[in-house]
Amino acid sequence: MTSAPAAAPTARRLEGAPFASEIRDRVAGEVRAYVRDHRHPPGLAVVVCGRSAPSMVYLERILKACAQVGIEGSFVDVEGEDAAAQEAGLTEAIARLNDDPQIAGIIVQMPLPEGVRLKTVVDAIDPLKDIDGIHPLNAGLLRLGYEGFIPATAHAALEMIHRSGVELVGADAVVVGRSPVVGMPLAFMLTKEDATVTVCHSKTRDLAAEVRRADVVVVAAGEPGLVTGAMLKPGAVVIDVGINVVDGKIVGDVVFESAEKVASAITPVPGGVGPLTNALLLSHLMRAAQRQDQAKEHFEA
Ligand code: NAP
Repeated sequence: MTSAPAAAPTARRLEGAPFASEIRDRVAGEVRAYVRDHRHPPGLAVVVCGRSAPSMVYLERILKACAQVGIEGSFVDVEGEDAAAQEAGLTEAIARLNDDPQIAGIIVQMPLPEGVRLKTVVDAIDPLKDIDGIHPLNAGLLRLGYEGFIPATAHAALEMIHRSGVELVGADAVVVGRSPVVGMPLAFMLTKEDATVTVCHSKTRDLAAEVRRADVVVVAAGEPGLVTGAMLKPGAVVIDVGINVVDGKIVGDVVFESAEKVASAITPVPGGVGPLTNALLLSHLMRAAQRQDQAKEHFEA
């Protein structure tokens, strides 16, 4: 008896690198114009409390990307012997950066050290310098459909969906994950674009049934192997935001090998949403710099 031939991949791979490179080229041009006008490069400050955290790899990559386009990226280290001292150090450092005209954008290393209150730290960021959209004002603007800063990862996932060419108006979209930095902002953005959105989370009763009806599936759960090809509707667009390390290898939340045989387009991990997130953060920084100039002109007029 011969076994049936394995199904061939049907999906187009949505690679982040070419799109990221287009964005970096555009930003590099904007940086050159900014330097001509201001006589200094726009600055991005990355506030870190503990350099041993795994997030340092991601943050170092951001600073490397800054250097490629001419943005002045820097780490601002905060120390403290306990959570209260760390929290005070973080808010003081952020206040100084808010007042520094050479700093256009601020990001803070996450997760915060144990015992440091997220709300206190996030509230301290000037919303005009909050280029990763974590301040409540920016989250509220997004919720209401107004323009503000959106989290770069959610922005990258949305851009990938646009790149897939799928028609979002009336489409069924399932977002797996409801975090304030990925799942929820994406759900609001997809709703604004007239998709019918279902948000799934760890208490969702039948994830497979929800995913199976979706024309667009975004998975941002941090659970390797959570979504398989067997759970997908044929032709679905699949955006895998997950980053997990399994046996020393970086993998997403979707089983790529089975999903690419059912989907029409899919982002690989690594190489999909990640590189785009990084590039979009730089474009948010330039937008922040431009908005700060506009705000200054407004108050000086
Ligand atoms: P998070 O804050 O831990 O949120 C995870 C979400 O997934 C939660 O809403 C959780 O549900 C849900 N979830 C967990 N297990 C589930 C399951 N078995 N079934 C259904 N839902 C489940 O994570 P995050 O910050 O949003 O990040 C999500 C993933 O994206 C992570 O792998 C992270 O590393 C990655 N990430 C990637 C980038 C990038 O640039 N590509 C950037 C940021 C994050 P509950 O709310 O019920 O707990």
